[in-house]
Amino acid sequence: MTQYGMIIDLRKCVGCGACALACKTENNTAIRKDGQTYNWADFLHETEGKFPDTTFRTLPVLCNHCSDAPCVEACPVEPKAMYKTEDGITMHNDERCIGCRACQDACPYSMYEVTKDGAYGEYSVISYNEEGQPTHPFYRDKTELLQGRTGSGAEISSITGSVPPHQTRYNHPDYESVRRDNIVEKCIFCDHRVKNNELPYCVDACPSGARVFGDLNDKNGEPAKLLKQYQHFVLQPEEGTKPNVFYIRDYSAKV
Ligand code: SF4
Ligand code: SF4
Repeated sequence: MTQYGMIIDLRKCVGCGACALACKTENNTAIRKDGQTYNWADFLHETEGKFPDTTFRTLPVLCNHCSDAPCVEACPVEPKAMYKTEDGITMHNDERCIGCRACQDACPYSMYEVTKDGAYGEYSVISYNEEGQPTHPFYRDKTELLQGRTGSGAEISSITGSVPPHQTRYNHPDYESVRRDNIVEKCIFCDHRVKNNELPYCVDACPSGARVFGDLNDKNGEPAKLLKQYQHFVLQPEEGTKPNVFYIRDYSAKV
């Protein structure tokens, strides 16, 4: 049975953010706002120690597509809006979702509200589109990006004659390419691409080949080979969710 998963090689990852940007364009995700990240592919930058004995580590983070996923367990609707596909992806059906956020509460890698700034603070793999709010408020915002120096999101939208991000329109039985309000959203391992024998876009975009995607159960596949070759770890193993995103070749830069 197929179990899709991802291996992230921390010695190849240079923290350039190409994956995060690619994900944003592919999945039309909004910018971080009101305690929600909307970053299906995100980063954690960890700094330890005190200068000059300082180490720095960059960890790309995303939904772990856990085998024992508490988000699925918690979802109260029937049939579930958050569910596992036959090939092991934690999928979300946006039509069935009632926006109760029980999944966000149950997922150890998510939180209702991120309070710290950006990649140096907190992340949440599930984000919520607030009821009654446009899902892409940036492009309606008239505030200048840099006061007195640049235009606003609304200006960009008016000049380009459109309300991006919207360019990627994918056809998926469960997921709209732009989600509506009052539902949650999260990484779907680019299921719409995988169904067409393409890689998740973050994998495709990574310039150093740090992300490897495939069937973990295929003994001859690249993911299985890497897991055999290198020591690996998952995030928060103590939660017992059996993540399917693995990290190999742990690396901390010494400053
Ligand atoms: S990381 Fe969170 S949202 Fe993703 S499958 Fe695991 S519990 Fe669910
Ligand atoms: S927010 Fe949607 S997916 Fe999450 S638990 Fe509620 S109904 Fe299920």
